[in-house]
Order: sequence, then C-alpha cells, then structure tokens
Amino acid sequence: MKDTSSGRGTVTERISVDRPVFSVEFFPPKDAAGEAELWRAIRRLEPLDPAFVSVTYGAGGSSRDRTIRTTARIATDTTLVSMAHLTAVSHSVAELRRVIGAYAAAGIRNVLAVRGDPPGDPLGEWVPHPEGLAYADELVRLIRRSGNFCVGVAAFPYGHPRSPDAESDLRRLVAKVRAGADFAISQLFLEPEGFLRLRDRMVEAGCDVPLLPGIMPLTTLRTLRRGPELSGAPLPADLVKRLERFADDPVAFRAAGMEATAELCDKLLAEGVRGLHFYTLNRSTATVELVQRLGLAAR
Ligand SMILES: Cc1cc2nc3c(=O)[nH]c(=O)nc-3n(C[C@H](O)[C@H](O)[C@H](O)COP(=O)(O)OP(=O)(O)OC[C@H]3O[C@@H](n4cnc5c(N)ncnc54)[C@H](O)[C@@H]3O)c2cc1C
Repeated sequence: MKDTSSGRGTVTERISVDRPVFSVEFFPPKDAAGEAELWRAIRRLEPLDPAFVSVTYGAGGSSRDRTIRTTARIATDTTLVSMAHLTAVSHSVAELRRVIGAYAAAGIRNVLAVRGDPPGDPLGEWVPHPEGLAYADELVRLIRRSGNFCVGVAAFPYGHPRSPDAESDLRRLVAKVRAGADFAISQLFLEPEGFLRLRDRMVEAGCDVPLLPGIMPLTTLRTLRRGPELSGAPLPADLVKRLERFADDPVAFRAAGMEATAELCDKLLAEGVRGLHFYTLNRSTATVELVQRLGLAAR
C-alpha cells in the first residue's frame, strides 16, 4: 500500500477513478510577476479538481530551488495533489538524494523521473555527472529506494529524438516501468494515432501502467510550430492547412486551434484514456476552457 499520509492520494490513485480526469503541468516561475501569474492559474484551476498538478525541474540551481518551493507550497497551501519533476542533469547521486529528501520533507509523494537534456543545447552531447546517473531508469530506481513515492516517467509517441528506432525506444520505456515506474506521461503530439499505437505496443510488451497523453492547447501560431519542433511529433498537413489561414488573425487562430485541440482530446477520451495532462505554460484560461468543454471538471 502506498503512503497516502498527505491525505490526498497518489497520482495512480487519483487517475484510477470511474471517469476521465485531467492534470496540469507548470514550470517554476522566474520572478514575482511570474509567481503571481502562476498562483492565479493555480487558484482558477483548483475548484475544477485536477487529478494532480506538476512542476517541471530546470537546469540551473535557482530554478531547481524554485521547483522544490513551488511544489511544496502547492502541497501545503492548496487542496491539490502535487507532483515534482526531477532530472539527472548535473547532479551527483548524493545531490539527487538530497532533492528527493527535500521533496519528502515537504510532503510531496509523487515524482516524475526524467533524465533531462544537456543544458544549453537539448540535442547536444549528453555527458552524465561523474558521480551521477546516465538514464531515467536509474533515477526511477533511486527514487524508489529513497522512500514511498509514486513515480512517473516520460514516453514518446514518435520515439525519443535520440532513439535509433521505435523498437529500442519502446524497450527503454518498458525498462523504466520494470525499474518501478507507476505511470507514464507522453510528450505532446498533434494527432492521436502515434499515442494510441504506443499505448497498444506497451500493452503487447506486457506493460500495463497508465499512459497519459500530454496535450498542448493550440492557442497561437507559435504553439503550432514550436511544439512539433521540440517534441519530434509530426505536424499533420491537414491541421497546418486548417490553422495557418488564420496566421494573421490571432483571435480566429485561437478559436480554430482550441477547436482542433478539443477534437484531439475527444478522440483520446473516446479511446478510453484515463486522463489528459495539459501543458499550461503557467496560464489557466485555455485549460479551463478545454476542461469545461470536455466535461472533465469535478461535478
Ligand atoms: C511529460 C514530460 C515531462 C518532462 N519534464 C521535464 C522536466 O521537468 N525537466 C527537464 O529538463 N526535462 C523534462 N522533460 C524532457 C526530458 O528530460 C527529455 O525528453 C529527455 O531527453 C529524455 O528524458 P527521459 O526521461 O525520457 O530519458 P531516458 O528514458 O533516459 O531516455 C533518454 C534516451 O536514452 C535512451 N536510453 C534509455 N536508457 C538507455 C540505456 N540503458 N542504454 C542506451 N540508451 C538508453 C532512450 O531510448 C532515449 O533515447 C520532460 C519530458 C516529458 C515527456
């Protein structure tokens, strides 16, 4: 039995309910204005009862402290279940243990274990810390050994950019689950096929942990262009055709982009996904609109 002493349950408990749920991802704010914006978003989302909210882990020292502080504050000052991300970048195992200890001390019971990318150039050479870890499965094991955590990992519907092929990418994902991961969250994508295929292939590989789709609301031309660039997901030609005609009209673009995002979410829900994980960029409006439109808000 997992520790639910925070009284709010783990991510796996929160997504194992008889209706589809949603969750949201934030990044640690850089300054006071960013912090105010983040907390406005959190307070707007709170009454909709997301299954959990997560805070990403950055490359630098001060940003990392802010992840710990923000996640801890969500755990203590709100009714939400919080999840902290953790990466292996530039950390020795001893430092990783300290961060995991800080999470535990702050009452955080859910951790997303990702390897992270080299600071500066995400596609640059990955050099592990001399006393650190090389891959996310090792981080999963370390977190597991360090306490009673519910652990998630990253999944890539179109394969991780460094993976030579889809088969080895799947093997690495399965290895993370075998190392002790309880669930996975996918990189963003713009059409459902790759995600659904990955879900089927995980099941065929005997891996039955929940896989949550990562959803980026298409509110601007930039989100349409940058998302696939960063994630490696294809940019479907029909979607580009549908949205780019509004390139010079941000209001019309947003309306059409949100329509397309809602259609993607509808297809995923019809295929039985347990929850949708929204990349919010620390704003709440698009997520609130989608959650209400899809009927995912707590009744
Ligand atoms: C939902 C989600 C949240 C994220 N949050 C953050 C965040 O908070 N902070 C951040 O910096 N980044 C974050 N990322 C990005 C992530 O750190 C990068 O995508 C990173 O490049 C891969 O991380 P991973 O955990 O999948 O790595 P891994 O699973 O370690 O995989 C990295 C690469 O190595 C390969 N590989 C794995 N194991 C082995 C092995 N034993 N031998 C050889 N090759 C192997 C994999 O196939 C893959 O190509 C997130 C990504 C997602 C999808």
